[in-house]
Amino acid sequence: MVWIMGEVSQEGRKYSPATINQAFNDFLRLQASDQKLLQRYNKTLMRGGEVFAKIFYDYLMASPVTAKVLDKYQRQGGLIEDLVKKQLQHLFGFISGRIDDASAQRMSHIGEIHYRHGIEPVWIMGAYKLYLDHLQTCIRDNTEVSDNDRQLLESTITKLLFRDMGLMLEGYWGANLSALAREKEKVVDLRDQITGLLANIPQLLWSIDVANNQPLYVSPTAHEICEMDIDMPIPCLGWTIAEDRQRVEMAWQSAMQGEATEVESRVIQPNGEQRWFRRLFYPYKNIAGDVVRIDGLMEDTTEKKATLERLNTLATTDSLTCLTNRTLFHDRLAQALAAASRSDKYQVVMMLMDLDHFKEINDTLGHPAGDEVLVAVAQRLQTLLRKTDTLARLGGDEFGILLPQVEDGHYTAEKIAKTIQQAFVSSYQAEDNELFLGASIGIAIYPEHGEDVATLMSRADVAMYSTKNTEKGYMFYDSKLDPHAQQNLQLSGDLRHALQRKQLVLHYQPKIDLQSNSVMGAEALLRWHHPAHGVIPPDEFIPLAERTGLIRPITDWVIENALKQSKVWREMGYELHMAVNVSARSFQNTKLVEIINGTLKKLDIPANSLEVEITENILMSDLINTTRVLKQISDQGVTIAIDDFGTGYSSLAYLKNMPLHTIKIDKSFVLNMAKDENDAVIVRSTIDLAHNLGLFVVAEGIENAETLAMLVALGCDSAQGYYFSRPQQADKFSVFLQQHGRD
Ligand code: C2E
Ligand code: CA
Ligand code: CA
Repeated sequence: MVWIMGEVSQEGRKYSPATINQAFNDFLRLQASDQKLLQRYNKTLMRGGEVFAKIFYDYLMASPVTAKVLDKYQRQGGLIEDLVKKQLQHLFGFISGRIDDASAQRMSHIGEIHYRHGIEPVWIMGAYKLYLDHLQTCIRDNTEVSDNDRQLLESTITKLLFRDMGLMLEGYWGANLSALAREKEKVVDLRDQITGLLANIPQLLWSIDVANNQPLYVSPTAHEICEMDIDMPIPCLGWTIAEDRQRVEMAWQSAMQGEATEVESRVIQPNGEQRWFRRLFYPYKNIAGDVVRIDGLMEDTTEKKATLERLNTLATTDSLTCLTNRTLFHDRLAQALAAASRSDKYQVVMMLMDLDHFKEINDTLGHPAGDEVLVAVAQRLQTLLRKTDTLARLGGDEFGILLPQVEDGHYTAEKIAKTIQQAFVSSYQAEDNELFLGASIGIAIYPEHGEDVATLMSRADVAMYSTKNTEKGYMFYDSKLDPHAQQNLQLSGDLRHALQRKQLVLHYQPKIDLQSNSVMGAEALLRWHHPAHGVIPPDEFIPLAERTGLIRPITDWVIENALKQSKVWREMGYELHMAVNVSARSFQNTKLVEIINGTLKKLDIPANSLEVEITENILMSDLINTTRVLKQISDQGVTIAIDDFGTGYSSLAYLKNMPLHTIKIDKSFVLNMAKDENDAVIVRSTIDLAHNLGLFVVAEGIENAETLAMLVALGCDSAQGYYFSRPQQADKFSVFLQQHGRD
């Protein structure tokens, strides 16, 4: 139907396509008499049609709009003559006075076509003015029209022109309305789509007119987050928890300054739950550069945050013990150092600790048992530290302890180190095995031992390794022990040449048999005559030799030279028991047994005149291997002595199954036993226990007659100390022998 897509509502229009023709005819009072009049003068009015066609055509071509339409029409194969012909037909049809519904629809249709081609009403007016002029000329000067009819005929023509023109404009308008309605429909569709989209996505979107503090848009999701009042200008601010509000307000202020910002905060949900939300503020500026609008987005980040936190925990926690891992430990240490550097009141203590024979547990009981032990150790240690301290598992059986703010580093570190040692007094349980563990702790203190993470870590490590050569469970960093320290690097270079350059010398200290009061043996003690530094005591270079691997050739050299000296004294008639010190590292030397046996044979000295002194911690650090080597040595007849007894953690009962011959009570107990009752008690019970186990007892560190007398009274077998003689060179020792030795 021409009345422009009947399905489109023609809002506000009183007349429908069915009634419009009638309405026109009524308003214009078009009657049968009008039609009769037209029929009467039909021929008259038809005359001059060709002339009109020409005028009309000129008019079309004169207007750019219509000229363009015609041009297009022609290019598509249309003929102007046909158009002109149609126009004439229209004129003739119009003159014939058709006023039925069909003719009305045709006119509407023509209006619609004009609309489609963009030919506007003003042109339609111009065309009708041409019709009117043409017909008026026909009527006015024509004698065929009676004077009575002339005015009537002119009125009829005018009415018809109005009808024709009005219906055409109706068509034009209707087409326009339909087009508008279609556009509106599209807009509505689009709006529904966008609304649906915004309602469906979980993010809350909004746009705020900040100049007037008015919301321009708030997406429907908003009400799921902020139940009643969205709040202006910052959406949902009122629902944000009090502690986080200031942060959000600050981000908003930055947005108001023109900067896109992002902020996270906790928001109370309508159901009372507290969740994390991220807000994004995007400022929009007008031409003047003022922020007039802030668009934004708000989204729930609770899950994302939780995931991040989980990842963070994974990245910073040791999965076995749930302790801090190495990464976080380094971070904390760095933080502590930064904080301490801002005041000179505080020091930072960092400790490295490893378990003494952990490898053995793994090797003999299996990894699950090892893991069980690590977890148990972690738990025990954790209870000993304060909340502000950090306990970390750095890998394997290595733990880190950080005391971030201490006023008296050495004192506190020593206290904590001792406390930690307590954690190893009672046994650990792993798969029904009762295990006694030990730990070595290395301590480095900021600023004394270093000022950065790497230095402190490596120095604590040096201290920890040095601890392994002592009986003390912990040690502070000492540059003398550090193979990396500049001076030590130089020394270790020098030590390499010390053997070839004959700078190493053995001194001998006598062991006195307390029953016969004569020299029964000697301990060979090493000295380094350094060309620049003079005599360097063994405590200073043995640890260095151990760290650099030089200890092996040195031990070999000591065994060979001590036995050679022993041979010399034998030939002088003194059958001495020669003791040599063999350190932990040397026990890893697979050739140790060969060298001992080979040298004894070569020099033809009985095996039982050699004694190997080892410290307790050698035993404890590698029980299986050490026991095997000790057995091989003692099977030959060489005796084994436990040196510095009492400073380690082994109990006599534990040593029961070892191929031991001698116990050397550490000088730290002997030196003061005359004055300190505790020490005296320890010495006495050690002697008793050792004797019960059938062991020979040597006390070392006798500096006075009083101590000697006590030891004699306690039934100690042998004694060694400055009171008798300091360690001295072989020739001087020979003189001593001649004075005190039994032959
Ligand atoms: P050590 O085996 O416990 O040796 C005894 C140490 O105590 C010696 O120190 C000795 O001089 C000292 N001493 C002896 N009597 C007394 C006394 O009455 N009072 C005091 N205050 N001290 C006394 P030195 O010679 O400086 O040796 C220190 C440590 O160096 C030795 O301790 C031993 O562990 C190690 N060492 C020495 N020579 C060698 C060696 O050839 N090989 C290895 N691996 N270590 C050695
Ligand atoms: Ca010794
Ligand atoms: Ca000793």
